[in-house]
Amino acid sequence: MAEVLVLVEQLDGSVKKVTSELLTLARSLGEPSAVWVGGGLDDAAAASLAEFGAANIYVADSADLSEFAVAPKAEVLAQLIAEKSPAAVLIASNAEGKEVAGRLAVKSNSGVITDAVAVDPGFVATQSVFGGSTVVHSKVTKGTPIITIRPNSVAPEAAAGAGTKVAVSVSLSDSAKKAKVTGRTVAAKGGRPELAEAAIVVSGGRGVGAAEGFGVIESLADSLGAAVGASRAATDAGWYPHQYQVGQTGKTVSPQLYIANGISGAIQHRAGMQTSKTIVVVNKDAEAPMFELADYGVVGDLFAVVPQLTEEIKKRTS
Ligand code: FAD
Repeated sequence: MAEVLVLVEQLDGSVKKVTSELLTLARSLGEPSAVWVGGGLDDAAAASLAEFGAANIYVADSADLSEFAVAPKAEVLAQLIAEKSPAAVLIASNAEGKEVAGRLAVKSNSGVITDAVAVDPGFVATQSVFGGSTVVHSKVTKGTPIITIRPNSVAPEAAAGAGTKVAVSVSLSDSAKKAKVTGRTVAAKGGRPELAEAAIVVSGGRGVGAAEGFGVIESLADSLGAAVGASRAATDAGWYPHQYQVGQTGKTVSPQLYIANGISGAIQHRAGMQTSKTIVVVNKDAEAPMFELADYGVVGDLFAVVPQLTEEIKKRTS
């Protein structure tokens, strides 16, 4: 079975959920192998890659690799394409992943598809575009298919792989050293889970009315151990930071539970959350399109409904 390479996404040495999703998808396409670029692959990280099926873990570990931005990852992958002739390379569809994919496509003279939400065993990729109103199927016709996959498109399923570590030695070209990392600042992060990876997301929209209005959204989120999301109307108004925007031009989430408060349900918002397992809607307008997606809905003022919900949850969890 041909190998399918998965570029590992990590945060402080821990494997991110999107990598488990990519490995799960890679198993349906061939034999998955993980590619770890940069230092710090510890036993826990290696075990989590093996847990989701990585047969090999290619480890490119040198100081150079984390000293320069983005380009080294493309060079490592280009080297592995030349050496291993994989059937495809899967990369997470975030800003960095898409840049790596573009660079890799040029280096390996291959076609690239970005923002796929599925790939079938014939390597036909599915993209959901125009806010989810149009589905595009496409296939790379030249070189090695390089496909970036949107986070939360695939449900991660464990299936043990050998997880054999294979050291990869890389000597970076001069052109990969043109953008040097001069410093790293860890983004201030509250105690809440990361939006794209959270099992529960509580979101607020224009109905929240003001930045201070997000207090009730945050309290509900904290009572559930959830992440907070926001509609673009709320982030554009400056009520909540842009990194928490859910939707076509924000993050795609697919939690077990999504609670939408004061969000009308525009197609661009739905594009980022419609695959959530259970959707709860609180909106004072019974005609709001968001109710079309709802498993449970409350027609009412969120400032009356949400605090009661929070109190009730606290009673049951304390
Ligand atoms: P509104 O549509 O104004 O809805 C507010 C809702 O709150 C209403 O349904 C109202 O009944 C309800 N409400 C008001 N007060 C209360 C209250 N006290 N209690 C309960 N309910 C109340 N949007 C995104 O969210 N994410 C995206 O990524 C995104 N990308 C876009 C990309 C493009 C190219 C374009 C053109 C638009 C995009 N948008 C996106 C914007 C999108 O079209 C909508 O304008 C936006 O989602 C609306 O946000 P909203 O639902 O919070 O606001």
